[in-house]
Amino acid sequence: MLSDTALSENAPFAVAGAGGAHRAESELWRAVLARDRSFDGHFVFAVRSTGIYCRPSCPAKRPRRDRASFYRRPADAERAGFRACLRCEPRLFAEAQDKRRLDGELALARAVQERLTPTRVPAIAGWEVAGLLEPSREVGGDFFDVVKVGPGDRLVLGLGDVSGKGVGAALLAASLQAAFRLLAERESSPAHILAALDHDLRDRTPPGVYATLAVVELRAASSRVCASLAGHPPPLVLEPGRGPRWLGAGGPPLALVPGATFGECSIDLEPEASVLLYTDGITEAEDVRGRELGRRFLRRVGPSLAGSAGARVEALRRAVSRLAPSAPADDRSVLLARRL
Ligand SMILES: [Zn+2]
Repeated sequence: MLSDTALSENAPFAVAGAGGAHRAESELWRAVLARDRSFDGHFVFAVRSTGIYCRPSCPAKRPRRDRASFYRRPADAERAGFRACLRCEPRLFAEAQDKRRLDGELALARAVQERLTPTRVPAIAGWEVAGLLEPSREVGGDFFDVVKVGPGDRLVLGLGDVSGKGVGAALLAASLQAAFRLLAERESSPAHILAALDHDLRDRTPPGVYATLAVVELRAASSRVCASLAGHPPPLVLEPGRGPRWLGAGGPPLALVPGATFGECSIDLEPEASVLLYTDGITEAEDVRGRELGRRFLRRVGPSLAGSAGARVEALRRAVSRLAPSAPADDRSVLLARRL
């Protein structure tokens, strides 16, 4: 009955118990005799005569010492042929504990994501920029940043989305954001920034993981907007007296295609015109009937956005929340540049 994951008297079981110390089997047995709750989740004990395994604190009668064996995890006891006790439910307890640990990690990832998101974006003559990141339930991989280059002659906007969700995606988004900040200063144009990021990321990303990113460059006291996209949904250009249009030029998502190159496009904007960057958390938000809002939603709402960059971003956020009121399943991010 004993598998090699069970513990024998000669091989003390290293259990990170209350206090984190390594504990010998005799100590585990003392915890079982004392029904010590602080050991719940750190190990289970199994009883050979009944075929059942329990938490240390189980109220059931104690077995004979020579019939008890110890396992780290419920799965180890089950592999050795034991069944979970119905009174103390050691398996449910371990699952709840895993969930608490995961929730704690996600909360930490979310806090890091919030801190990395700029609360104030730098300004440049002739332009105003505002952004918003509404994190999802599970923490996604969105980020945005705005980098002022030189004494104030260039502003580089980046808004990206890493594939997947959870701590891994948040970690990669944080790393991509750091690389973006560095390369936005070093590289001369949006397409060059994307090519350098692509190169940098491909060496450091596990297979199958990728990121999409939109980079937009503004110049002080200039009407010119230059944009390049790495597999990212196209920014929306909103101009007074004209229909909305999409700004699209670029290449594949980052870290996906070896030797990828990126195109870029430039346009001139009139005063009061704006460029809207967003992630698919916006266009794939679902209305109450489960339909995605889609890009048509942006085309419809975009022209009604007015006022400061901040007011436009807030109006868009409200429009999304009104149509897709449930908590976001994916991060929702927008970044808007308005020409003054
Ligand atoms: Zn039990």
